[in-house]
Amino acid sequence: MAEQKELAGKVALVTGAGRMRSIGRAIAKKLAAMGCDVVLTGTGRSPERYPDDEKAAGWRDIDSVADEVRALGSRALPVVCDVRSASAIEDLMRRVIEAFGRVDILVNNAGAARGRDRVPIVDLSEDLWRQVIDTNLTGTFLMSRAVARQLLAQNEGGRIINISSIASKLVEPNNGAYAASKAGIQALTCVMAAELAPAQITVNAVLPGIIDTFRMDDLGRGEVWERLIKARVPLGRAGTGEDVAEVVGFLCSPRAEWITGQCYIVDGGTVRLP
Ligand code: NDP
Repeated sequence: MAEQKELAGKVALVTGAGRMRSIGRAIAKKLAAMGCDVVLTGTGRSPERYPDDEKAAGWRDIDSVADEVRALGSRALPVVCDVRSASAIEDLMRRVIEAFGRVDILVNNAGAARGRDRVPIVDLSEDLWRQVIDTNLTGTFLMSRAVARQLLAQNEGGRIINISSIASKLVEPNNGAYAASKAGIQALTCVMAAELAPAQITVNAVLPGIIDTFRMDDLGRGEVWERLIKARVPLGRAGTGEDVAEVVGFLCSPRAEWITGQCYIVDGGTVRLP
């Protein structure tokens, strides 16, 4: 397993990494397995609102994921931070530097929950539009700006990975705010890649397809879910957080040092672009 510790000595920051069935948790564990110390952020959601399976498992959000990172031999720092707030991000960065002295990798994974924004644009309130754009797009901008400033000051290169979505390619009805926020993330990825390339900081995006996480529970489980997967995923199964984490791990590794400004679809074949 030569790749296992190829990120030893690096510090990664993964946003939105506290849910038990989530992409962020899998990314945090992958980076820890590759040798990274990991900063994990969550919203500090109240335990009463945890889904039943998390309650049954005695889940503790980012603290549980921090324990998993430590069990893999890395250091972990769980921090509550709203990615929509520049001042909360300033506090976060202070704590990261205090604890680890540096940061090398940022994974912008936090995303607004699927919700009442899934309606036609003519029925979408300005408030809901702003909520989605603020978390997904402005949050990615604010986090990327803060970490890029630190990376430039360190002058040793770095990696930024933005978790987007195939929703930005499918551009289906009832998905306006989410699709626009994710397409915006891809534009931001390309612009920042050009700006930061001279400093050997790479910026790439990963676009997951249907991944079996908590956020998809509202689509229905059992037969409904199986039918959806069969209709939409040529490879015949939903993705896992680990499927996404594998690509993120590669993009963070030295093997990807000459790749920047790219958007990788990881979706079992749903979107096929020649
Ligand atoms: P989750 O909903 O579990 O992950 C999103 C995380 O973002 C949650 O942990 C949530 O915190 C956090 N978050 C939400 N708002 C904020 C905020 N304002 N500040 C900080 N954190 C915030 O879903 P997934 O793991 O499925 O998704 C992870 C990413 O992948 C998202 O960006 C999503 O859009 C994207 N994606 C997912 C797909 C899927 O099929 N699952 C498909 C394509 C893209 P909390 O837990 O405290 O609510």
